[in-house]
Amino acid sequence: MKNYGIGTLILTLLKVRTKIVGVIKGEIIVKKKQFKAESKKLLDMMINSIYTNKEIFLRELISNASDAIDKLYYRSLTDKKVNVKKKDLEIWIKPDKEARTLTITDNGIGMTEEELENNLGTIAKSGSELFKEGNTKEKDISIIGQFGVGFYSAFMVSDRVEVESKSIDSDQAMIWESSGADGYTIKEGSRKENGTTITLYLKENTEDNSYDEFLETYHLQQLVHKYSDYIRYPIKMMVTETKKSEKDDKSEEVQTEKTLNSQIPIWKKPRKDVKDEEYQDFYTDKFYDYEKPVHIIRSEVEGRCSYQTLLFIPSHAPYDYYTKDYEKGLQLYSKGVLIMDKCSELLPDYFSFVKGIVDSEDVSLNISRETLQENYQIASIAKSLETKIKKELESLLENKREDYEKFFHDFGMQLKYGIYSTYGMKKDLLQDLILFYSSTEKKLTTLKEYVSRMKEGQDTIYYACGETTDKIDLLPQTERVKEKGYEILYLTDYVDEFVLKCLTTYEEKKFQNVAEDNLDLDTEEEKEAIKKANEEAKDLFDEMKKALKDEVTSISYTHRLKNHPVCLTSKGPLSVEMEKVLNTMPNGEKVKAETVMEINEDHPIAAKLQALYQKKDTEALQTYTKILYAQARLIEGLPIENPTEISNLICEVLSK
Ligand code: ADP
Repeated sequence: MKNYGIGTLILTLLKVRTKIVGVIKGEIIVKKKQFKAESKKLLDMMINSIYTNKEIFLRELISNASDAIDKLYYRSLTDKKVNVKKKDLEIWIKPDKEARTLTITDNGIGMTEEELENNLGTIAKSGSELFKEGNTKEKDISIIGQFGVGFYSAFMVSDRVEVESKSIDSDQAMIWESSGADGYTIKEGSRKENGTTITLYLKENTEDNSYDEFLETYHLQQLVHKYSDYIRYPIKMMVTETKKSEKDDKSEEVQTEKTLNSQIPIWKKPRKDVKDEEYQDFYTDKFYDYEKPVHIIRSEVEGRCSYQTLLFIPSHAPYDYYTKDYEKGLQLYSKGVLIMDKCSELLPDYFSFVKGIVDSEDVSLNISRETLQENYQIASIAKSLETKIKKELESLLENKREDYEKFFHDFGMQLKYGIYSTYGMKKDLLQDLILFYSSTEKKLTTLKEYVSRMKEGQDTIYYACGETTDKIDLLPQTERVKEKGYEILYLTDYVDEFVLKCLTTYEEKKFQNVAEDNLDLDTEEEKEAIKKANEEAKDLFDEMKKALKDEVTSISYTHRLKNHPVCLTSKGPLSVEMEKVLNTMPNGEKVKAETVMEINEDHPIAAKLQALYQKKDTEALQTYTKILYAQARLIEGLPIENPTEISNLICEVLSK
């Protein structure tokens, strides 16, 4: 139900050696255990350097306490022997200035001796994998942050931590105690009620850090308000308040019990009562991000299925976003109770980056992973969330372009994926959210913006593909289109052209690759002229084609080029660029575009080819053809199959 805390992660590595057991101190048996040597180093690092934000230890301990109370409460629902009154469930914070201790107490389920050892010492797989990959360098701390910080965060502020716990399943309380990397001890305790008390022996103040602030009731109240306000059980503390005495009107200081948290989840509070900053803090804490979200969506829906939602659009992709390890999903609450941590049915794949919470009273508490898919409420929430997310992204695009582009940089691929993985079925939803680089604007543009700039009579959206926008800009095939004054979209992601193929049209305008052989930019006269020239050169081209065998479907003259001598274009549905992409797919069948080699009729090389043909210098004509074809492939970013031969041919020509 929750993320592995850093506590669990560290303990993964701190595989406890059970060698030294049984030091007898008077009557009490104290079991002393050591952490592994290499793990000490790690714990040391965690304690001393990771979090500048040390105060979050309180949030971690309170959230563990709240989980423990949850567990007890669930237990009472099924186990007749466990009796709890909901109103008695609470968490206490007690600072003690003299002893310099801070205690956090809950009356939750508690831990047995075995659980103390195991819970504060079990191997969490995801965590160990993370550390194994060598991600523990300090610069990668943000990554660790994505897994949350657990019980061990207590050591960020304490020299010594004592956990006294009595489990609901045991009559004997136990005390777990540790001063950090040296190991820990376990002995019997005296607590009678079930639950856990964690005592932190605060560190001495240093020049940079004051730990005294964690003994100030005022500061503790602030921290609870900031991080733990929505915890569903009261968090209480004794505070001193100044009151007027009833007898003589003098002020006097009295100790009173105060509940520090409102117990209302942030997503249930009206939008106007919550500052953006509070939402942002909630996001970074809850979803383990170190950057604030680029957009916050808060909404409330009343109807056959009512729900409140608080969603976040992250500003950047988590490190595992484009891997199979990434799990999409929203936290699902029912009446304020968390029932599922990552409910994937609430989000379509193309919006899998969205984080957040859905709280619906209409969703049953007993809903299970198995029944989710047929669940009417979930389906109806998912449907309306999809529309909502689209609208919000559009408004971000319209009103905060820079933020949107930052978002798009990381998640644009996912939106595009949504278009081609559904074969264009989600066109209406996604087509206005994608951006491409524009040849005229020199920045990213939407299709809508492109269309709004189209010249009179233009019925085609032109695009060109390549590795980078700079490289595309130099492609010979773009010359003529630019000369005619048309804007071209530069497609640099390998999926881009497939996306446009899936869209087929945008506002009834068709898409056209400038490298397609049917590019129709010529006037009737020009068309006539090129047709004639091609007819006249038919024999020349037949001769040249012999040198290229099946490499190209045909050879022809073109007006497409301005300065370049030669280029490749394609006939039919498969472009040269698509051929490139598809052929890099593992296990894919090799495909071949129907390629046409086009020669600039106005280039001196065209006359040279004619001259060679007239002279019947077949050998030279073949050499020239091969070199030209190799050039065209190079410009296109395609490999040459016989580089040695081409190199020799070039030298041969050069040395003539
Ligand atoms: P996480 O909470 O992410 O699992 P922690 O290191 O914070 O990691 O805690 C480890 C485990 O110790 C918890 O999963 C829980 O089982 C147990 N635990 C921690 N605090 C308490 C508590 N106050 N009461 C009962 N069990 C607790």
